[in-house]
Amino acid sequence: MLEVNILGCGSSLGVPVIGCSCLVCKSDSPYNKRLRSSIIISQNETRVLVDFGFNIKEQLINSGIYHLDAAILTHEHADHLSGIDELRVFFYIHGKPLNVFILESIAPLIFERYKYLFDSGLLKMNIVNEFQEIKVNNTVFQLFPQIHGAIKSLGIRIEEFVYSCDVSSISVESEKYLYNTKVWIVDCVDYKSTIKHAGLERVFEWVKKYVPEKVYLTNMSHNIDYHEIITKMPPHIAPLYDGFKIKL
Ligand SMILES: [Zn+2]
Ligand SMILES: [Zn+2]
Repeated sequence: MLEVNILGCGSSLGVPVIGCSCLVCKSDSPYNKRLRSSIIISQNETRVLVDFGFNIKEQLINSGIYHLDAAILTHEHADHLSGIDELRVFFYIHGKPLNVFILESIAPLIFERYKYLFDSGLLKMNIVNEFQEIKVNNTVFQLFPQIHGAIKSLGIRIEEFVYSCDVSSISVESEKYLYNTKVWIVDCVDYKSTIKHAGLERVFEWVKKYVPEKVYLTNMSHNIDYHEIITKMPPHIAPLYDGFKIKL
């Protein structure tokens, strides 16, 4: 069985946004509190973290998961990367460096910025290519590139589950990974798409094309009120909220 823990489903500023007095930021609802996008994928005893932004320490403590087999970085934006220093703790927990999978095109940049973590052996960098299949224990993670504005992010597929945070369009070579899925978690920053992110109208187009069984929206900004958007969804599409767990 595959389990996905949603550590966060918020966009780069999180929700609430500092200094914002919109209805979503002022909302008391826990469904409208969003830390930065991050998940843990578990299968049997294997646990892999995907992305580690500003909130990662709090997110890991909230999840109660203190054992990880690896971490995957989807792309170099700070809201996915900037908590990398917190992953040092797994060296102390496990007595060995955590394996972090990083795309080859950004590996030199990450290595230069966080040299002290890799040089000291606190983390182990594993360089991957865009279409790499990663095996962690017995779980296979198929990576594929997604267009995210001017850069690329990694999509991740495990069996019939796909995670696509931070994506604006899908290249022809990556489309095959989106067919025949049971659960697809996909970027939905707002109702309208932006240069870097899909919005709800694009998600609807993709759902029509790829026909996933169930779709969950992530990376949502404060322009999305959980209680409002959920009333506009067909039964097979739903917004995520932090702490939600998916089993498949
Ligand atoms: Zn706001
Ligand atoms: Zn991004």
